[in-house]
Order: sequence, then C-alpha cells, then structure tokens
Amino acid sequence: MTKKDYYKILGVDRNASQEEIRSAFRRLARKYHPDVAGKGSEEKFKEINEAFQVLSDPQKRAQYDQYGSSSFRPEDFNFEGFNFEDIFKDFGDIFNVFSERKNKPKSGSDLRYDLEISLEQAFSGLTTKIEISVYTICKACKGTGAKDGKLKTCPVCDGSGQIKKIRRTPFGQTVFITTCNKCGGSGKIISEKCKVCNGTGRVKEKRKVEVKIPRGVDENSYLRIAGQGEAGQNGGPPGDLYIVIHIKPHKIFERRGNDLFCKANIDLGKAIFGGEIEVPTINGKAKIKLPRGTQSHTVFRLKGQGMPDLHTGKRGDEFVKIIVEIPKKLSKKQEILLKEIFGNEKIKTSKGFFDKMRDFVS
Ligand SMILES: [Zn+2]
Ligand SMILES: [Zn+2]
Repeated sequence: MTKKDYYKILGVDRNASQEEIRSAFRRLARKYHPDVAGKGSEEKFKEINEAFQVLSDPQKRAQYDQYGSSSFRPEDFNFEGFNFEDIFKDFGDIFNVFSERKNKPKSGSDLRYDLEISLEQAFSGLTTKIEISVYTICKACKGTGAKDGKLKTCPVCDGSGQIKKIRRTPFGQTVFITTCNKCGGSGKIISEKCKVCNGTGRVKEKRKVEVKIPRGVDENSYLRIAGQGEAGQNGGPPGDLYIVIHIKPHKIFERRGNDLFCKANIDLGKAIFGGEIEVPTINGKAKIKLPRGTQSHTVFRLKGQGMPDLHTGKRGDEFVKIIVEIPKKLSKKQEILLKEIFGNEKIKTSKGFFDKMRDFVS
C-alpha cells in the first residue's frame, strides 16, 4: 500500500484541531463529490474520505501519526456500521447542493384557447373579451391543501422533507439525499383535506382576458398573450396564453390565402346582351360589366377586394365566377319565341354534347 499524507490531502496542519479537519473536509467534499464534480472525481473523493475517516477519529489519528497510512488495511475503510448520517448531520450544507434543485422556480403552463370568428371579423379585426379557466392558489387553505391550512409534520422524513440514503460505492459509502415522497419535500403533510380544492391546493378560476385580433388572421393563426397562462410555482413566471383562430365557413365566400372566391348567377338575357351586375364583396358591393355573349363559368377578377394581408395589410383579390342560369320552365310565349329563334336550326357546336352538358351541370 502506498504511503499517503492525510494532512496534505485535507490541506491541514499536523496540529490541526478537529474543527479545522471537519471544515477542511466539508470544503473538499463539496468540491469533489462525484454528484457535483462528475465521475472523474471519484478517486479524489475516496481519498478525501479516507483521510477524514482517519484524522477525525482520535485513535486512528494517533495510529497514523505513529505508523503512517500503511498501518491501515483496506478493511479499515469499509464503513460497515459507520454512521454516516451522524457525520453529515452538522454538515447539512454539503448536500444542499444536491437537493436545492428540487424547489427551483417553475414556469406556469401555457394555455390554449380556440376562438371562432366570422370571415367579416377576420377582415376587419376585432377586440373581444374571452373567459378562460386557470388554476390559481386555493384561498380557503392558502394553497396548502389542508383544511383551514392546518398541516402536521411528516412522519416519514420527520419534517426535513428529505430522505437520506446510504449507498455503497467503490470509494466508500455516500449519502444520497432524495426528496421525501410522502410530503413531496415540504416536510409537512395534510391531516385533513381542504374541501374547496380537494387537497390539491389549487382551484380553477375563471378569468376574463381582452384580446385584440388583428386584420387578416386566417384559420390556425395564433396570438400569444404573454403572462396570461397558469400561475408559476415557487415564484416562477406565469405561462402564456395562446389564442388559436378558427374561421367559420362563409355563405358566399371561399378563402384561399388573401384571395376570395364566389359565384354570381346571371340569366340568359344578361349573358347574351351583356350589362352591369352587382356582386357582393367582403365589406360591401362591387359592379362588374359583362360583355355581350358572356359564357358561363367565366371568371372576373376584382383587384384589391380580397382579405388584408396579416403583415402588410395589402388586400388580395376577389374572383367571381359567372354562372349562366338556363331556365327550367318556359312560358308559352317564351317557348314559341325561342323555338322561332333556335328550333329550326341544326345545333352547331364546337363542343361535343357531353361537354356542353357538363358546362350546364357544374
Ligand atoms: Zn416527508
Ligand atoms: Zn384548498
């Protein structure tokens, strides 16, 4: 066995007091604990441990001072029956390093709210109030979950909120601190559940939020309202609220991007002689001048009559498909006149019979 200078390892004088030895160990253990410094520090930590085991025990220290480290055998350091908990009791702060992260501030969850609006509202934008349900701290128990806020000390961890586990590792035994499962680390448990929140410490609360929907939103557009989500935990910030937009189907218009599409029915006379017709737009009416002999399914474009772009505000176009209505029933007079015009002529058409049928049907 190689000779080891336990005093040097702990960085203390040969005449160091027990207090100095303990404080040196505390400092080094915090620095080299494998949970903090990583696996590479295991050997170093083992060495520090060994030095401390010897120098903190007056009998072993005397043996070491007289005969050196080679007077100890590995068995001397298997900490069988050694009360680690006792040693670390007043060294509690060492392990705070590992347990601290348990109560870290946690951000609140984000919330989603689906809002259905009309195409007109998407066109003009709107400001509206929505009601959301969010979890807030139960006022009846002040968030403790206990009836009248009364708690008792957790019997499992005796109020410390932590469970110490001693684990054997290649470098001796190490104390691992875990959060107490019974009390979740608070050290206190509920003797009787709060009836208002059923012991959860939080209740759903309705909250009204004003939302401003900009012009030009489309299906699945979303708005983020910072800080309006669930409350955070341990002083963490609240989450955000996301408003997801849905557009109700429109009676007249179909939307594709910023463009709008619709159909306008005209009678046979308008198709043959042409003329002006009025068509709806998203925010009013517009006129289209039909030329003579307008064919069914001709599409007219109304520039700048579509939806505003969400970012630029520039409006898309409106496309109007003309549908020529062929009368299904004729008066006697109409029948006589139409037969006079068309009846005796052989039908000449560039399209086949079925193409023509399709035109009329669609
Ligand atoms: Zn507990
Ligand atoms: Zn409660």
